[in-house]
Amino acid sequence: MDLKDYIESIPGFPKEGIVFRDVTPILQNANSMRYCVDQFNDFVKSIGADVVIGPEARGFLFGVPVALENHVGFVPVRKPGKLPRETVNETYDLEYGQDELCVHADAILPGQKVVIIDDLLATGGTVEAIIKMVERMQASVVGVAFVIELDDLKGREKFKDIPVCALTHFK
Ligand code: 5GP
Repeated sequence: MDLKDYIESIPGFPKEGIVFRDVTPILQNANSMRYCVDQFNDFVKSIGADVVIGPEARGFLFGVPVALENHVGFVPVRKPGKLPRETVNETYDLEYGQDELCVHADAILPGQKVVIIDDLLATGGTVEAIIKMVERMQASVVGVAFVIELDDLKGREKFKDIPVCALTHFK
């Protein structure tokens, strides 16, 4: 399957100079959705992860079915003010300014082997922040998986020692 047939590229969204890669057509088609989940399942099995973590909102769309099929739990990563109980937080740099991610403090147990699933790897800032949060909870990230990797941004260099699964690539 060529996943690129199910990814729309939108120039100028959300702002001038950016080409947004839209994965919603993948989800609209049962075959392309099944393909992504199967590929991620193989990766999760090969690295032996025992929990899936995914950032809002598109990480939820791919992370939850993969967790379910691997008989492991799913942990949501959210923006500040969304999670109702005690959280572990991490700020990270954006092109202009900073952003912050949060996870429930009791959601990951010490010693757990965590896999991060998201729709797209760009600069790697999101994943780097999640790795820091997981490590502060005394667990380890054993793999990171994306539908799309933007190769020119070299995001994977931020986590060189961790296995990466990317289902398709753009420059
Ligand atoms: P990074 O932190 O690696 O720079 O950015 C990755 C995050 O931004 C991911 O959570 C992803 O959902 C979002 N993102 C950035 N650019 C795009 C894009 O072109 N398409 C999609 N679908 N998500 C994007």
